[in-house]
Amino acid sequence: MDPRGFPTSLPEFQKVFPDDTACKEYLENIRWPDGFICPACNLKAEPFRFATRSSTVLRCRECKKNTSLTAGTVMHSSHTPLSTWFWAAYLVTTQTPGQSALQFQRQLGLSRYETAWAILQKLRSGMVRPDRDTIGGEYMVECDECLIGGNSRGTGRGKHQMVNVVAAVEVRLRKEDEDRAAKRNQKHDGGKPLKRMFYAGRLRLRVIPNRNTAVVTRFVQENVTVGSTIRTDAFAGYAPLTSLGYVHQPLALNGDPEKAEAHLPMVHLVISNLKTWIMGTHHGAIAHYHLQAYLNEFQYRFNRRFYPMTAFNSVLGIAAKTLSPRYEDLYSGVWAHPS
Ligand SMILES: [Zn+2]
Repeated sequence: MDPRGFPTSLPEFQKVFPDDTACKEYLENIRWPDGFICPACNLKAEPFRFATRSSTVLRCRECKKNTSLTAGTVMHSSHTPLSTWFWAAYLVTTQTPGQSALQFQRQLGLSRYETAWAILQKLRSGMVRPDRDTIGGEYMVECDECLIGGNSRGTGRGKHQMVNVVAAVEVRLRKEDEDRAAKRNQKHDGGKPLKRMFYAGRLRLRVIPNRNTAVVTRFVQENVTVGSTIRTDAFAGYAPLTSLGYVHQPLALNGDPEKAEAHLPMVHLVISNLKTWIMGTHHGAIAHYHLQAYLNEFQYRFNRRFYPMTAFNSVLGIAAKTLSPRYEDLYSGVWAHPS
């Protein structure tokens, strides 16, 4: 269990949300942490509840108006039980490999593939909203491009199907290591290799039509805060970054692959994970015009991997109406563990 009370494994999750009643309690708790307040007449009093398993309605004692617990969420007017939605959202937001509709159908024990597919589509629609703020600032950013796709099944050719993707990722120093690094610099040179003190911060991914200078610099300008330090390879397309107000650290032109690896370890790791996910979960079979949506999904999960509850609430459409959009703030004890 996460210190904030959010389950960190599927068995734990199933214990916390064993049935629809537990899910209803969760929804009610998030919306009215201090007890039900009728949206129609503002009366704060215990509402009437309905015993049927599928009912998500609370009725005001005073004005008799019904309020739906699922209004404004992706679960509204769905025939799928809440517990299935919850389980699906958990799988989609926390499992690193992501889920194909077929894996999903099996894991949730759904009888129809179409149901699994529809749930997945709805949850994904909550993930394709791009993160709008820029990354970098106090953190250094690594930027690189790669080719994605190129699965030649059915057509017999490879390269022409490859799509250019550009990635930028923050490199952050672990808090506890900042002190250690400071101490070490004062005292001695030995100790833990510096590389392991870093972790990836926020990520931005975009499908680009080509690697022209204008294209890659526009990506940087739209995604990285001006003034940030940016590391790239020696590709000339990034040359204007200095004049655009960035602290540009390109790899030396004659750099060999090993030097490139040492220069851009974080973005290479992210790209490698992205490729593994696309090839593994989706067998590379993603149409070009869908690729950006998948990149958004990958980015969404990646950027919230330390905030599983935020990701979970957000894909279900719970967070948007009741909580602040700043995801760092979202999990500050709003949720009480259903006992
Ligand atoms: Zn009322």
